[in-house]
Amino acid sequence: GTPEIIFVLDSNPRTDGEPVPGHFRVEEAIVGPFLKEGQVLVRTLFLSVDPYMRCRMNDDTGAEYLAPWGLSECVDGGGVGVVELSRCESLSVDDMVTSFNWHWQTQCLMDEKLLQKVEPQLVDGHISYFLGAVGMPGLTALLGVREKGHVTEGANQTMVVSGAAGACGSIAGQIGRVDGCTRVVGICGSDEKCRVLVEDLGFSAAVNYRQGDVATALKESCPDGVDVYFDNVGGPISDAVIAQMNNDGHVILCGQISQYNKDVPYPPPLCDETQEALQSKNITRERFMVLNYMEKHEAGIIQLSQWVREGQIKVLETVVDGIENMGVAFCSMMKGGNIGKQIIKISD
Ligand code: NDP
Repeated sequence: GTPEIIFVLDSNPRTDGEPVPGHFRVEEAIVGPFLKEGQVLVRTLFLSVDPYMRCRMNDDTGAEYLAPWGLSECVDGGGVGVVELSRCESLSVDDMVTSFNWHWQTQCLMDEKLLQKVEPQLVDGHISYFLGAVGMPGLTALLGVREKGHVTEGANQTMVVSGAAGACGSIAGQIGRVDGCTRVVGICGSDEKCRVLVEDLGFSAAVNYRQGDVATALKESCPDGVDVYFDNVGGPISDAVIAQMNNDGHVILCGQISQYNKDVPYPPPLCDETQEALQSKNITRERFMVLNYMEKHEAGIIQLSQWVREGQIKVLETVVDGIENMGVAFCSMMKGGNIGKQIIKISD
């Protein structure tokens, strides 16, 4: 084995602190070359940084399905790469594979059980899409809308998406349009993101929550009120949306990123006014978790990849080069530095 760069957690932010690149550090380690039965050596092509990773920086993640990252241990998350050596039946050299537990390393030894084979032709060779539009975030958008959104063709519905220019949000809004919403309005953090949502992704309108009053802008862009709300952010933005929802509407509770640097449980408690609005207007607000629908993932990936190849759904990505930039890319994504899926390119 040759020395490989690995990325480890150096220290935790406080539960209510902001993550900074200095919470991570780079080390060198020898990886391989000897494989145990059932293992492969993979070369990393792309790694993902995702909001749930903020919980993995805490000693207690607050979720039983998420283990905390250990101090001085290699960090892991979504990744995609290519098999270089194999000692297992199901995977051969040159196969493309993905995993939710990919180490932040340029090469790693992995158990075949943690890997899933992917077909590059599904994404016309855009391998990084398996971490975004044709991966976990895309499935979150698709299954979130389909399982909790109650979108009905011809029902003249207005959908609002928060975190709309991000990995999940940008796909969720486009699926709302494909599935027959009359209006799809995005909320996001910059004028440039708003422009892209409307001009490139076919959103009906977009609201920059950092500029002016969200409630006023929403009134203008949703003249018939809001029927379906795909919520990625929570907090005051969601209070403003829910206040303008129609009777019998549906909130897809996907994420609450505005609260992830706070010491609150998930989902964070709502203010009384919003709680009352939900009750009096008979609005459903069910927690959605993509991992609870594993049996629907395979068909979902096929559907998403087809839409992407047909051009019905456009894919946005922000790609940063180099494993040494993992920490910078993660912290940037948490603050809105990304448009579309934040990807880190590790090797060609
Ligand atoms: P994104 O690509 O959307 O990146 C995060 C975005 O959040 C940033 O770009 C930023 O955009 C926005 N943001 C950050 N802080 C705030 C804030 N205080 N208020 C409003 N917006 C903020 O990430 P993902 O698409 O991967 O994830 C989006 C959401 O979906 C997260 O809440 C995540 O936890 C959730 N999720 C849930 C899953 C599930 O199974 N339920 C699965 C996957 C993700 P901006 O410029 O607009 O501020």
